[in-house]
Amino acid sequence: MSSEAKATESFVEKPKSLAALRAGIQSGSTKATDLAARYFDRIAAINPRLNVYLSLTRERALEQAARVDEMAAKGDPLPPLAGIPVGIKDVLVVKGAPATAGSKILEGYRPPYDATAVARLEAAGAVLLGKLNCDEFAMGSSNENSAYGPVRNPVDTERVPGGSSGGSAAAVAANMAVATLGSDTGGSIRQPASFCGVVGVLPTYGRVSRYGLIAYASSLDRVGPFASNVRDAATLLGVIAGQDPKDATCSPAPVPDYAAESDKPVAGLRIGVPAEYFAEGLDPEVRAAIEKGIAALGAAGCSVKPVSMPNTKYAVPTYYLIATAEASANLARFDGVRYGYRSPASDTLSDMYSHSRDEGFGAEVKRRILLGTYALSAGYYDAYYLKAQQVRRLLAEEYLRAFNDVDAIVTPTAPTPAFKLGEKTGDPLAMYLADIYTVTASLAGICGVTVPCGTTAAGLPVGMQVLAAHLNESTAFRVARAVEDAGIY
Ligand code: GLN
Repeated sequence: MSSEAKATESFVEKPKSLAALRAGIQSGSTKATDLAARYFDRIAAINPRLNVYLSLTRERALEQAARVDEMAAKGDPLPPLAGIPVGIKDVLVVKGAPATAGSKILEGYRPPYDATAVARLEAAGAVLLGKLNCDEFAMGSSNENSAYGPVRNPVDTERVPGGSSGGSAAAVAANMAVATLGSDTGGSIRQPASFCGVVGVLPTYGRVSRYGLIAYASSLDRVGPFASNVRDAATLLGVIAGQDPKDATCSPAPVPDYAAESDKPVAGLRIGVPAEYFAEGLDPEVRAAIEKGIAALGAAGCSVKPVSMPNTKYAVPTYYLIATAEASANLARFDGVRYGYRSPASDTLSDMYSHSRDEGFGAEVKRRILLGTYALSAGYYDAYYLKAQQVRRLLAEEYLRAFNDVDAIVTPTAPTPAFKLGEKTGDPLAMYLADIYTVTASLAGICGVTVPCGTTAAGLPVGMQVLAAHLNESTAFRVARAVEDAGIY
């Protein structure tokens, strides 16, 4: 190792599997209360270095853990996540706990209810440790847009963890939670999972309720899990997925046993590889790792064939038009009246609105509100927003056509491994371009899983993105599992 490599610290530690933890809790050899206490100790020890948690829900965690221990002591059958310590991205609300969305404008806001995904985790026995750092309103790819400072990548603290769910990915990578929830609008679960060497799931749009998710771009936002292995991620999705009367966009489709589905062999599956994802700009070490993963799928009995996605080149501008337009509408509600921060010195109501927004929002959020408002304004709507919606449709059709011929599509999750803190902060366009491989699935509404698929010579994780058709998470899990089982990470 070079002296440069030694200057950074690594906090990587793999959490035990859900199956192992549950067996210990059911038998009484592990107490859920002790487990929670151990996690709080580890958080206290390393959070000052990594900045992963923004707040802790200790009291609620210890009460829930005590309930689990009581059930185990009575010999009651335990629910699937009994005693499992989890963390929640700070864009999902937890009753009574601070919900900042990484923004100063929500300072002091304590929501009076639980997000559906959070409530379902807890109903399945999970122990909520706290709220996880993220880019402000989930806008970003590096976690450097958080008003509460960046998260550091546990693999190499000089590097970003990815974003916007940087805290959710880093928490699992550093064993500061066994599993976490994040949100993905254009890549915010997949890209940080890839940068930190953990598994991240983009569920189909509508598969998981968004009730209690602080909105960024409503036609794109999804809630999904992070875990240290594919089977655990599948178990988590099974718990949080399914219809919710509180979210009208939520699908009534039945929820399969994703964990059992992930156990099925992949022999005979057809895997598509789009040439457009292996073009200019792809880091050669990332390419080499993904090619190894593809070879492993071939060795496991999959047939691998090229697919064509020529509209991929329009995906980044299309995504940034739609996402910013919807964000400009969603963020109108933060006006100093209803939530959080209010500027102290204003003479008129209109001054109070503008001072509160000016002081409360960070630079990137303001940039996006301006871009989105412009794209939606009279005279420009047809040229920008409408055009972007038309291209979005073409991209979705490209995927639908491809899924007539293949069961899953594999690509790199991101064009590079985790970059250095500060490397792209001066150049928003370079930051946006790094989302090239993740935004297409976001626009198309399809599902996917990112799974660790090797490392670079410097030891940085590389993630493979496995995409599948709408509501076909089972296939994505199976393929990701085969890559994991090949042991190349
Ligand atoms: N990096 C993308 C953006 O900034 C995606 C963020 C996300 O998925 N929330 O919009």
